[in-house]
Amino acid sequence: MNNTETIFEQLENRGHERLCFHHDLETGLKAIIAIHSTVLGNALGGTRRWYYESESDAIYDVLRLSKGMTYKAAVSGLPMGGAKSVIMMPHRENPRTEAEAKAMGRFVDTFNGAYIAAEDVGVNTQFIDWMASETNHVMGGETVSRGGDPSPWTAMGAFHGMRASLIHLGRGDDFSGITVAMQGVGHVGQNLCKLLTDAGAKVFVDDIKKSSVDYVVDTYGCTPMHDADILTTECDILAPCALGGVLDGSVILNLRCSIVCGAANNILGDPEEDAVALKTAGILYGPDFVVNAGGLIHLAGMHLGMSDELLQTKNDEIFDTTVQILKRGEEMPSTYAAAVDIAQQRISGAGAQETGVHAG
Ligand code: NAD
Repeated sequence: MNNTETIFEQLENRGHERLCFHHDLETGLKAIIAIHSTVLGNALGGTRRWYYESESDAIYDVLRLSKGMTYKAAVSGLPMGGAKSVIMMPHRENPRTEAEAKAMGRFVDTFNGAYIAAEDVGVNTQFIDWMASETNHVMGGETVSRGGDPSPWTAMGAFHGMRASLIHLGRGDDFSGITVAMQGVGHVGQNLCKLLTDAGAKVFVDDIKKSSVDYVVDTYGCTPMHDADILTTECDILAPCALGGVLDGSVILNLRCSIVCGAANNILGDPEEDAVALKTAGILYGPDFVVNAGGLIHLAGMHLGMSDELLQTKNDEIFDTTVQILKRGEEMPSTYAAAVDIAQQRISGAGAQETGVHAG
């Protein structure tokens, strides 16, 4: 990542409130929390644990991810802001430890609830529960913290987004015979493979972790595919479910799908330009922060005290929201622009209102 902007220019250009760095002397933990917006309320966002080539890569990631969370919460109608955190792993293969998680929990606690942490790539429920032993401001654990693994809910939301996309193209929502190419079969991808194969779809999969590919091939009858081919294979739906930045102008020219709809955050390298390029190429794009909101809705909803029934209803609303955005995208430069427009209207409309969920 070669960014010539200063840190404050990056905050200003993306509209961030805070970017905080933490070094824990005891464990060596290096972590960053970015709060993009608290206009709508406190901000819930995952902690990503990843090996970054450089500090600027980590900053770039946490800034983009946290801004996406603001849009995700707003477009989902949640009274929550947007934030995210990253832990910079010292090596590629560095096992999660309780001491590291507790150090991260103490860092999160310094925000007094303005930031609420949860799972993201590289973090599991055990890690969340370790963090929760140091702070109340964490969701997504199974013992000390509540909510559990959000990925089945994220997968359900992405499935709703795919249904809405198929219907928008006049293909009904019967998945029999529908082909899906999925990059990344981790927590969300595996749940999505189940939903899709149960519904009759044929799912091609790829993951840099061979054991995950073997699992979905053996369990759900998915078909393995080579890394180099997954994005450009001929299919109805391309579902990026690994990391972000996988589609840019040059990759888009080579796509052979009708729909892009996946759970990964920040699928598009340059969302504004690339979403227009997808539209120009005749490919329908279900904006990532709309269709992958299921996990946020579940954990934020629990945090806000919603009943199980309401949590399910809010997840199902991803279908209606996607339908609305795909339709509005026809009159706007892209579906991404349509989704951002709805999110921004909610954020600016709330500026003067009391949302009542800020930390004391
Ligand atoms: P995960 O770590 O469980 O799975 C990610 C998988 O992608 C891993 O199996 C990894 O090996 C694989 N992968 C990484 N780089 C790859 C590459 N270049 N090619 C192929 N495979 C690759 O993470 P997850 O929880 O399943 O999340 C997946 C994506 O969805 C992430 O972008 C995450 O930010 C996003 N997301 C997750 C949730 C959630 O509820 N977990 C919610 C919203 C968004």
